[in-house]
Amino acid sequence: MKTGYGNPARYITELHVEESCLQLPYTQEIIARSGLPVHILQENVDPDIPGRYPDNLTQGKHHLMLTKNRGTFFKPCPATKQYRCCDYQVLNIGMGCPMDCVYCILQAYLNNPWISFFVNIDDLFAELDQAFAASDGAFFRIGTGEFTDSLALDSLTGLSRRLVEYMSRKKSAVLELKTKSNMIDNLNGLDHKGRTVVAWSLNSPSVMAAEEIRTATLDERLAAAAQCADWGYRLAFHFDPIIYHEGWQDGYRQTIKKLFSRVPADQIAWISLGALRYLPALKNIATDRFPQSRFFYEEFIDGLDGKSRYFRSRRVAMYKVIADELAGYVAPKTCVYFCMENDAVWQEVFGFSLEDRGGLPSMLDGSVNR
Ligand code: SF4
Repeated sequence: MKTGYGNPARYITELHVEESCLQLPYTQEIIARSGLPVHILQENVDPDIPGRYPDNLTQGKHHLMLTKNRGTFFKPCPATKQYRCCDYQVLNIGMGCPMDCVYCILQAYLNNPWISFFVNIDDLFAELDQAFAASDGAFFRIGTGEFTDSLALDSLTGLSRRLVEYMSRKKSAVLELKTKSNMIDNLNGLDHKGRTVVAWSLNSPSVMAAEEIRTATLDERLAAAAQCADWGYRLAFHFDPIIYHEGWQDGYRQTIKKLFSRVPADQIAWISLGALRYLPALKNIATDRFPQSRFFYEEFIDGLDGKSRYFRSRRVAMYKVIADELAGYVAPKTCVYFCMENDAVWQEVFGFSLEDRGGLPSMLDGSVNR
């Protein structure tokens, strides 16, 4: 039986701060909360972590670097045009994560082992202001969980409170905080006005136990979700990546059953399904780091986006079992959707095409605007 790791931020033992960020009040706040000694780094100097990437990734996850985002904070999700995407906007608050999932795409996507968190949040909010001013009434679904976990470091950064308060003033947007932790304390007592959705990735119990290191257990994730529902937040869940393994049918059914026994169905805005897909480079990195994991040795095809994925027949078989089980519980207004799938799969599993329903972005927007 997996026991919870607790706060993933306690895995951080080394705090690096880029010199130009040192005097920012926000940096000082984080330093004080961490209680860690600070290594001050000149601009463009990397934290000194022995070994080479990706072999030093396990070590690198102990290191948090407070730095500036010199690029853009806010941009469309890097989806690919060959698969149906949901028109999501990514708010890039940092890169990397103290938890360690065997399948984590960041292992192949990033090229340094430490975790970065961007402290120039005045620029972040200025960029959001600009995007809203230029949006011409467009509705934004915004997420911070693309290149990091939204809440894993929140006990240090306290960013969620600032974001939730900012979003509470926006009528044409919703923020999704996506996590595998149960670090929700900062969400308590906020007047969020329904503009924040708190989301958890879920998997079968055996995948969560074996392939998701330092994450919260299923019971902990669902207890946190129930607490957020109590605080009036809407919820979301992501069955992603769905992994083929012995006993997968029972495993996913068990998780779904437990989910709906713990959280109110009518507070779930959306549930996504996405079968395992990965950049080819990830397989070697992950199997070297986690030699006991077997799931990369199944049969895969090269998808049109250059990622490996299961054959369509296997994806559809898995989706059907999960979608059928969900259908017994979901509230009518909850949007159940695929992340990055093609029209044929939508039609085969759900029996309708996205065009029939006005497109995925409008289905998702509708689920939070009713
Ligand atoms: S929780 Fe998310 S970001 Fe963190 S290691 Fe797992 S998959 Fe990667």
